[in-house]
Amino acid sequence: MGSVSVLRRGMADTREVADANDEWSPRRRNLGLTEDISLNDLAARTIRDLFMTEMVRGLGMLLQMSTLPAYTIMYPSEKGPLSPRFRGEHALRRYPSGEERCIACKLCEAICPAQAITIEAEPRPDGSRRTTRYDIDMTKCIFCGFCQEACPVDAIVEGPNFEYATETHEELLYNKEKLLANGDRWESEIAKNLAAESAYR
Ligand code: SF4
Ligand code: SF4
Repeated sequence: MGSVSVLRRGMADTREVADANDEWSPRRRNLGLTEDISLNDLAARTIRDLFMTEMVRGLGMLLQMSTLPAYTIMYPSEKGPLSPRFRGEHALRRYPSGEERCIACKLCEAICPAQAITIEAEPRPDGSRRTTRYDIDMTKCIFCGFCQEACPVDAIVEGPNFEYATETHEELLYNKEKLLANGDRWESEIAKNLAAESAYR
C-alpha cells in the first residue's frame, strides 16, 4: 500500500507541474498563475481579435505588392541564390594532392535508405584502401543527404549543381569517374559551402 500511495503522490506532483506550465489550465487560473498582461496589451489583443486587424494588414500588403511590377528571374542566364545546405548533384572529392578522399569504409552505402550506392573496394599495393567501384543510381536517390553526413572524410557530398537533367535513364547511373569529375568541377563551391556549415555539423 505504501508504494501505491507514493506512486499516487508522484502522479499528483507531476500533474501539478504540468498544470503550472499550462496557460489554459483551470488549476493554474485558480492558483493565480495566469499570464501577467497590461491593460494596454489586453486592449490591443482585443482590438486585434475583434476587428481581425491581421487579416486587414495582410490584404493591404497583398494590394501593395500587386501594384509593383512583376520581377522574373531570367533563368538560365540569371539564377536565384542557393543555400550552402542545398543538396544537388553528388560528387566525390579529392585532397589538394589529387588523392581520393574516399577510404572505402562503405558507411555511405550502409546508410543510404534508397540503396542507391554500390561500392567495391580492395587494398592498394601500398596498403591503403580505396574503392574500385563507386556507383550511384541517381534515379533511386531521394537526396536525403545521409551519405554526406555519414562520410568521415567529406568525400561524398551533394554539391550545388542542379542542372543535370538527362534524356535517358542510363545517363543518371553515375560511376566513380563521373563522380570524381563532378568533384573536380565543383570543388571550390563545395569547399566554401562545407566551411560555411562547419559550425553546425
Ligand atoms: S542522398 Fe540519400 S538516397 Fe541519395 S545516395 Fe545519399 S544517402 Fe542515398
Ligand atoms: S564516400 Fe565516405 S562514407 Fe562512403 S565509402 Fe567513401 S569514405 Fe566511406
